Amino acid sequence: MEEETQRQLRALPAVHEVLERLKAEAEFSPFLTNKRNSPRLKHCVRQVLQNARKNVYQNSWELGGDFEQRLWPWLKVNLLQALANPEMNLRRVINATGVVLHTNCGRAILAPEVARFVAAQAERYSNLELNIKTGERGSRYSLVEQILCELTGAEAAMVVNNNAAAVLLMMNTFAMGKEVVVSRGELVEVGGSFRIPEVLKAGGAKLVEVGSTNKTWYKDYEGAISPETALLLKVHTSNYRLEGFTHSVSGAELVELGEKRGIPVMEDLGSGSFFDGASLGFPPEPTVQQAVKAGLDLVSFSGDKLLGGPQAGIIVGKKRFIERLKANQLTRALRIDKLTLAALEGTLRMYENGEGEEIPVWRMLSYSLKDLKSVAEELKSALGSNTALLVEIKKDVSQVGGGAWPTVDLPTWVCSIRPRQRSVGELEKFLRLGPVAILTRIQKDRVLIDGRTLLEGDIGDITERLQAWEQENRTVED
Ligand SMILES: *Cc1c(COP(=O)(O)O)cnc(C)c1O
Repeated sequence: MEEETQRQLRALPAVHEVLERLKAEAEFSPFLTNKRNSPRLKHCVRQVLQNARKNVYQNSWELGGDFEQRLWPWLKVNLLQALANPEMNLRRVINATGVVLHTNCGRAILAPEVARFVAAQAERYSNLELNIKTGERGSRYSLVEQILCELTGAEAAMVVNNNAAAVLLMMNTFAMGKEVVVSRGELVEVGGSFRIPEVLKAGGAKLVEVGSTNKTWYKDYEGAISPETALLLKVHTSNYRLEGFTHSVSGAELVELGEKRGIPVMEDLGSGSFFDGASLGFPPEPTVQQAVKAGLDLVSFSGDKLLGGPQAGIIVGKKRFIERLKANQLTRALRIDKLTLAALEGTLRMYENGEGEEIPVWRMLSYSLKDLKSVAEELKSALGSNTALLVEIKKDVSQVGGGAWPTVDLPTWVCSIRPRQRSVGELEKFLRLGPVAILTRIQKDRVLIDGRTLLEGDIGDITERLQAWEQENRTVED
């Protein structure tokens, strides 16, 4: 026993050897393995080696034999855990939930060419506020205004930090100290902290509710108009559906009323989309183009929902209204950052080039069942020899997410995994707390992995993590 202990202790690498090897490990970002940050890393390496030694002395150590296959992976995982914030605070998560616009995971992901454009802009100077032709100061908004107008048919456009900011800016610009008429059926709350009544209040506007929860009529709006009315606001009920005995007034009808009474009409479209989803069999949703065509004075929507771009609030509409938004001092506080602008311009160019369907959000939404089944099968066969798990593939449904098409169930194929030992909750946690966080769905006693939202390399990482689970759960009988 003594001799075996000695042998195992000798097999442990030295601190500097660990540090050297880490440079080649993708999970350890250069921010950690470069010289400047090494004190924290060194401290953690010492700690983990100390734990390894303790393990050897307590005779519970079974990893000593095979450095590459067993010891090194063990050290790596423990090191990532010891670092507490493995890699970086903001880091990659594998989204295996099938929720395409997962707000907790950053909503839309950018197309690779768009991400490359952002990275290129990040490390170079640009013409952010420079008119190259004249050499004079330009406006950052002009960088995307023209393309937004071309794509939506609007006269003018501008962009701010997010859609909440867009609504706030519209209220503050046109309805400060005045009344805004909104249907009771459209007093939306969006995950987190966006509530229409509160945003109106923050913008200095007074909310005038009309109609009832399920029914609002033209005459309700008409009756609510007073000399204090600054605008009529329509809010797209993007994240819920009123079904059954309902009635609402369309944007076009509100425009007609607004014109008759000389009151501007605006719409918060929420997850405004350029596609109507009809080709995917989705129920009809108003597109941005349709809202513009209906004659609304201003229409606002998010950049990182169905558009598939970065977080942004996009406002399109009539020129004289956009001009007033641009002149509002608040615009400066809500202004969009240059990296966001780069991501937005790149995404819009893809639509312009007819490549909208290749934007990740739309690619994920339009996968065929056959594609999804083969992803599930690939994962199942990669896990074929895993003795700690019972793995099956089955049909299930994924969600659009981001408060878009809330009632649509997207048919999908999932890998359904039941742990032979321990609980499903423990398996879910084990996946989430690995070197790369893997976010899954629990259904009864199974963890589901939905191929719809997986990206290149994800299957390999999931397989590796599940192999680690198998090793941790080897029983004596195995
Ligand atoms: C999502 C949403 C918002 C908020 O948009 P952000 O871009 O997240 O600020 C506002 N209104 C509606 C109707 C939404 O669906």
